Amino acid sequence: MYRKVGMLVKFRCLCDGQCCKKYWIPVTHLDLLRLKIYGGIEVDESIVELKDREIYNLDIYPPIVIGDKEYFLALVSKDDGSCVFLRDDGKCSVHEYKPLVCRFYPFVYYVKDDGEIGIDVNEKAVGECPGLVMDGEPIDRDIVENLKKITYARREELKLWSETINEWNNSYGSKVSDLGTFLKFSLDKAEKHMKELVKKGIWIK
Ligand code: SF4
Ligand code: SF4
Repeated sequence: MYRKVGMLVKFRCLCDGQCCKKYWIPVTHLDLLRLKIYGGIEVDESIVELKDREIYNLDIYPPIVIGDKEYFLALVSKDDGSCVFLRDDGKCSVHEYKPLVCRFYPFVYYVKDDGEIGIDVNEKAVGECPGLVMDGEPIDRDIVENLKKITYARREELKLWSETINEWNNSYGSKVSDLGTFLKFSLDKAEKHMKELVKKGIWIK
């Protein structure tokens, strides 16, 4: 359950990469497709890795069964814990088509009692993200509207990713033990799902 922070803030990203050094980044098949089609990035083990469910927690989609274990799919973390796409100057090398989860920080979305989407400050980011300034003013309207648009896509993409994982787990999971086969299966599904989202007008580049 999301606990509302209700902070009043101004935000300007300083592009110092603090958040990209601190958190592991779970990705969906559609995040990977964006990297492939807009960035020309090869989706393989140089950019994605499996996070063991016994160590990592996530409740936004089911764990992926590969061989005899359960995992979550994430961007590769370098030895110092930073994201594989974080450049030495602190900037994101895939900024225009980065995973949707990256586009929210230092904010979060939540669902109101009437089903409407709300945007608030991520409580973990308070005191951690130097771009947040508590100035007593509401969150900038442009930020709120942009994040709401991303939220509609994000929620739909998470549903499609859950369906994809369930299909994989039921058909292949325990029989296949290599990440490459899972990635190919996921990207094939992503191409089909992208067309559905484009048709609905909620595809995010
Ligand atoms: S920590 Fe805040 S200011 Fe720094 S890159 Fe992340 S969002 Fe931007
Ligand atoms: S994809 Fe970009 S924004 Fe997301 S964690 Fe990696 S470097 Fe940071």
